[in-house]
Amino acid sequence: MQPRIDPTPLAARPLIELAGVTRTYDTGGGQVRALDDVSLAIAAGEFVAIMGQSGSGKSTMMNLLGCLDRPTSGTYRVNGVDVDTLSDAAVAELRRETFGFVFQRYHLMADLTALDNVAMPAVYAGVGQGARRDRAEAILERLGLAERQDHRPHELSGGQQQRASIGRALMNGGAVVLADEPTGALDSASGREVLGILHELHAHGHTIILITHDPDVAAHADRIVRLADGRVQSDERNPHPRQTTAAATTADSDSTARANTPASSIVAPPRPRMRNPLVVLLESMRMALRSLLHHGLRTTLTMLGIIIGVGSVVAMLAVGAGARQQVLDRIQAMGTDLLSIKRGLAGVRNASSGVVTLVPEDLPQIKAIPGVAYAVPETDRNVVLRHGSNDLWLPATGTGETFPLVRNWPVAEGVFFSDDDVRRHAQVVVLGRAVAEELFPEGREAIGKVVILGNAPFQVLGVLAGKGLGSSGVDLDYQVWLPYTTAATRVFGQRYFRDVTVKVEDEGSMGQVEQAIRTTLIQRHGREDFHIRNMADLIEKRTEARDTFTMLLTAIAVISLVVGGIGVMNIMLVAVSERTREIGIRMAVGARGRDVMVQFLTEAVFVCVLGGLIGIAAGIAAAQYATQLTGWPAIFSWEPVAAAFASALITGIVFGFIPAMKAARLDPVDALARE
Ligand code: ADP
Ligand code: MG
Repeated sequence: MQPRIDPTPLAARPLIELAGVTRTYDTGGGQVRALDDVSLAIAAGEFVAIMGQSGSGKSTMMNLLGCLDRPTSGTYRVNGVDVDTLSDAAVAELRRETFGFVFQRYHLMADLTALDNVAMPAVYAGVGQGARRDRAEAILERLGLAERQDHRPHELSGGQQQRASIGRALMNGGAVVLADEPTGALDSASGREVLGILHELHAHGHTIILITHDPDVAAHADRIVRLADGRVQSDERNPHPRQTTAAATTADSDSTARANTPASSIVAPPRPRMRNPLVVLLESMRMALRSLLHHGLRTTLTMLGIIIGVGSVVAMLAVGAGARQQVLDRIQAMGTDLLSIKRGLAGVRNASSGVVTLVPEDLPQIKAIPGVAYAVPETDRNVVLRHGSNDLWLPATGTGETFPLVRNWPVAEGVFFSDDDVRRHAQVVVLGRAVAEELFPEGREAIGKVVILGNAPFQVLGVLAGKGLGSSGVDLDYQVWLPYTTAATRVFGQRYFRDVTVKVEDEGSMGQVEQAIRTTLIQRHGREDFHIRNMADLIEKRTEARDTFTMLLTAIAVISLVVGGIGVMNIMLVAVSERTREIGIRMAVGARGRDVMVQFLTEAVFVCVLGGLIGIAAGIAAAQYATQLTGWPAIFSWEPVAAAFASALITGIVFGFIPAMKAARLDPVDALARE
């Protein structure tokens, strides 16, 4: 951008003005006065050399002029505006739009191509990638580096690197070029070439401030300011500036091409554009990706914590949801219109021991209550079942004839025992699927056979359909059923029931039926020595333990996310110190603190989001593997996945914040001085 239009004539109003500027540094041994009461005015379009011995304060002055640093006292005005009154963002804008730095050691970014190095300042001006590329290509071509645009700095000679860095200074216009010992690291031919380019820029209206200790280099300028011990020693016109045209001294074969291009194209200021705030973000993403790929192993290790955290959240929640659904399905299959009357009071330890009051005489009373469809008792004991040479130790349940109906458990072969069998204390038994398969393998007929239960012979009436594993993991098919009357007299030697399951006629009347049963039984027993559960209670009880388990594992997952986040923070802090010089360069070309912050935050978020995505995939895979292994179903829903992703994102932002802050707050002068 050209200097802002100003009504005062140029001669009357300097572009740059230092008035009584002092800059001191605090060092261990006291204060160093690098600049001491310096006053200096430079008009637009001048070519000034600032000369002095090493340590005389030249670099300090350049940092002040380029707004990388602020004076300790005195004022510095650009275009009549006191820089001290400007916000950080406005100062960054000055650096970006008005100044162009050329450093002795080029300060190109090692992992960017010449083209990307030249184009970089335009990122912070909000110029889109296409327009950036076009202009950077034009500039590189003009500087004779068209062939080299895709080379990285280490593939370029010193002279070529310095030309690329001049290109970078011109990217946003570079109305004022600040060159600190630009030829200091170059051989004399390359040095002449660089000076030739500076002359050319001067001829096209750029203000050139050339800092050097070398009188031969200073002799190129129109005006020479000599510094000694931080003070201006002399300030005089150079009546015969040494001339070197770039074209005449360039040994490059492409110098003719450059000479043919209208010279104005190099210095034409970029067309003003709308600043697009997304450009920095997009570029930050590109940089983040590059840096992640560059540090593959490190990134992977850093991501591991996030992957494990997110993966376990996803897997745990899926398995947890699956387990919950399984319990619900089982209970649903059993029927939601059931009430279960159990002996003993609920919630009392050993409540049922000694309570022997739930007995066959209760049954007709319960059945008589309006709304009760069926009532079926159950009592179980482990018994020995003998057939031929087989002895099985298994649970036997004494129950009523409506058991298959109430428990929703159909008979596969033969029949269940009848109410008549119950009344007669018949010695009949119904086998579970697994028992039948063990005693009568390969399709041998079970029905009608006699087995020994306890010490009495029982006739096999039927075989129930297979149910598989129950919710507590026992094989439901490995048991037998007999009339509760026979069980009491012939096998168990006890009359009381473990529980009575009631099926109600109408689910809506469940509450009333429950109340009626309670009243009836209290009346009969003389006290409340039983408790009644409905299916809602049962669902709650069965899923409670699993929910606790799921919560515990989720807590572990959250902890590992936090640990992963700390890992990310750690690695980002390392990255900030490793890339301090890069940050300095970016700030010198006009990045605001905010832009640097966005860059490092993006990188942290990138690591976490990538880790999150891998973690989600890993979690789904792990849950599916667990399903195959254990048979527990896993249920995936988008909510936990979205929550895991969001936590990864938040982890990135939270733990990336401190390193990003640290980067954004770096002092550009210190940062540039870092090697
Ligand atoms: P030149 O560029 O002319 O060689 P500088 O501007 O780099 O000189 O330094 C001027 C003086 O300020 C020197 O004495 C130097 O040691 C001192 N100086 C420069 N930078 C710092 C700093 N960051 N901390 C302390 N002293 C500094
Ligand atoms: Mg210096």
